[in-house]
Amino acid sequence: MNKRLAGRLMSLLTLALILVADLIVSYSLIFTWYPSKFGSLGLSPLGLFIFLLYQLSVSLSVISHFKCMFTDPGKTPKYPVPGDIPLENVKYCADCEQWKPPRTHHCRTCKICYHKMDHHCPWVNNCIAVNNQKYFILFLFYISFASLLTLIIIGMTIYEYLCYEGSVRFDVMKCFFTVLVGFEAIIFLIFTGDFLREQLQLVLDNQTTVESYQDRYGIPHSVIKCLSEVLGKNSWMWLLPVSPSIDINYLEPCYSYEERMEMLGKSRKD
Ligand SMILES: [Zn+2]
Ligand SMILES: [Zn+2]
Repeated sequence: MNKRLAGRLMSLLTLALILVADLIVSYSLIFTWYPSKFGSLGLSPLGLFIFLLYQLSVSLSVISHFKCMFTDPGKTPKYPVPGDIPLENVKYCADCEQWKPPRTHHCRTCKICYHKMDHHCPWVNNCIAVNNQKYFILFLFYISFASLLTLIIIGMTIYEYLCYEGSVRFDVMKCFFTVLVGFEAIIFLIFTGDFLREQLQLVLDNQTTVESYQDRYGIPHSVIKCLSEVLGKNSWMWLLPVSPSIDINYLEPCYSYEERMEMLGKSRKD
């Protein structure tokens, strides 16, 4: 199957799984177990709080997913090679027929050179690079949070059932959907949680996934500087899926592991 078509189908499947899970958690769990005749939206105060928190995390994950899909990942512009770069260090991309800065990589699926290309992600049907890595990380963060919240809500409803058995009518279909969404939450949490941990480690090392295969790194920075290079300069906007407005330095060099350790004043044994 064509890679782009497979990417479109996988990104639609991701959205479908999120929306189906949202329906099941809202209908089979929150509105079933926390109703109130007098509360807002027909929910008790605790039910309303859980419902709003869950909707917020799902909405932010869907917005992050869309922004990740439709943001230009960071196409490298066709600049002339800066004169102060030694000629032996200048690389060209034969496919794009242009200068390839040290931290630029060519995506074989998109057939485009992107700066700080991390990987091509079929789940968002786009490359992940300098301009949309923030959205990718936020997507993983909010999906992990929503999955964890789903498991907590299931745990709370089991507790409610054991404590107040008989007060809520047992419904086989709702029970079946709850088990289904529980499995989905566990799989999402394992998959996205591990991916999130990996992405954060790469950000803190100022390294992309492509560079990690080559054992190469960007300039070592402090934790805050590393995070702001991906999430943006305003730390209070880090958790919001808004543009990170990054000043891209196309001249940033790449270093080997040994060079990086030397810069950090450490050796490989450390
Ligand atoms: Zn290229
Ligand atoms: Zn790509």
